[in-house]
Amino acid sequence: MRIGLDFDNTIVSYDVLFHKVALEQGVIPPDTPANKLAVRDHLRATGREPVWTEMQGTVYGARMDEALAYPGVIEFLQWAGQAGHDLAIISHKTRHPFLGPQYDLHAAARAWVEHHLCVAGQPLIPPAQVFFELTKEAKLARIASFGCDLFLDDLPEILLAPGFPSATRPVLFDPEGHHGADAVLAARQVRSWHELAKWLET
Ligand SMILES: [Mg+2]
Repeated sequence: MRIGLDFDNTIVSYDVLFHKVALEQGVIPPDTPANKLAVRDHLRATGREPVWTEMQGTVYGARMDEALAYPGVIEFLQWAGQAGHDLAIISHKTRHPFLGPQYDLHAAARAWVEHHLCVAGQPLIPPAQVFFELTKEAKLARIASFGCDLFLDDLPEILLAPGFPSATRPVLFDPEGHHGADAVLAARQVRSWHELAKWLET
């Protein structure tokens, strides 16, 4: 099976890193939950949207290497490779942050993949099958051209987009149960990487 995987908030969890950077900058109270949305909500509620915007450039650029893989990602990729599945990362993100220093966000993400998604020096996903596109449309086109049988993403708007290829099974990654029945109607929903492997095994 050809399995396509989203990157941000699907393979990579930024919760701990946003919390850490926000604490370092002194822009959140210490008791703020270690959660990206809690950091964002606090900054918005206190009228500091630009701080939030610039912090994204810091996290996705300068500090990217400190971001963590979701629990179970490495085990899933190892299992899927051994089971003969063909894996790709298909993501979209801007090349540079909207505010602040102009880090190359694609280069930072690719370096993260090289550093974190390997075992014994061997990449778990072939580098030629790691795609960072600039737009949502290009991402949807890549899902189609790679011939994904299945695509995993944390955003229903990708999985339910009119341009989502009809031959690809959409699967929603929803570890915190943010999405209700509407999202589930058209997309299979998993709460963890372990759950995805268990489902594919059956
Ligand atoms: Mg995502």
